[in-house]
Parts: sequence; C-alpha cells; structure tokens
Amino acid sequence: MSDLKFCQGPDCHTYSTKDRLKGTKPNKTYQTRRRSSFYYGNGNFCDQRCLYDWVNKYIEQGLDHFGRTTKSKHLREENAWIKRYRWTYEREGNNLPEHYYFNGITNEQRPLTKAQFDDNNYTLNER
Ligand SMILES: [Zn+2]
Repeated sequence: MSDLKFCQGPDCHTYSTKDRLKGTKPNKTYQTRRRSSFYYGNGNFCDQRCLYDWVNKYIEQGLDHFGRTTKSKHLREENAWIKRYRWTYEREGNNLPEHYYFNGITNEQRPLTKAQFDDNNYTLNER
C-alpha cells in the first residue's frame, strides 16, 4: 500500500464519485484518489480536471518562479532541429536511418544513433 501515491489535484476529494468514497459507515468520506500510477500531468493527477485544478491554482506562482516569456521566440535554421523516428515499413528497401534529426526550416535530415535519439540532452539546436 505504501507505494500508492495521491492525486495532486487540490480538489480531488470534492468530486463525489463512488471510487473516492472510502471508509466504513457511518464515517465514509470522499477522499483524494490514491493509485500506483496516474496518467495525467507526468503521473501526478488522476484526470484532466484535477490537473487543470492544479494549473489554475498554481500557474501564476509557477510562471513568476520559473520566468515568463517576455519577448517572442523565433524558429530559425539554428534551432529548428527535431528528432524523428521511422517505422520499419517506412525504412524497408529505402536504406533510411531509423532515427534522424529533421530541420523544420530547411527540411534537411541527419541520421541519429539510438543513443543520441534517447539522450534528452543531445541536440543540434543552438540554445
Ligand atoms: Zn484527482
């Protein structure tokens, strides 16, 4: 039981669904959902409603803390590289790499190793 985690939605316990009703009569209460894993918000929320409850409550603090976008960003050749993957049927007979970088401005493609593809710190983009 100890590896169960709680939904981080601040109002999760206020949604009166059957699965949230816990305890024995006459002390039954609606409680925050608890599961071994959640699907939403990086595995922290039981559903989209709880995720957005959290976002609505904390978004201003988060933006103030991590920094707001204060000027427009620009997609240029130097930062337009995105990692892509080809399924087997796309590669068959074409001798194309399974993993590759694709430049969204120039359409250039460059092969990637699996390790480079999986490495979240590996990039061709200028930072
Ligand atoms: Zn929840």
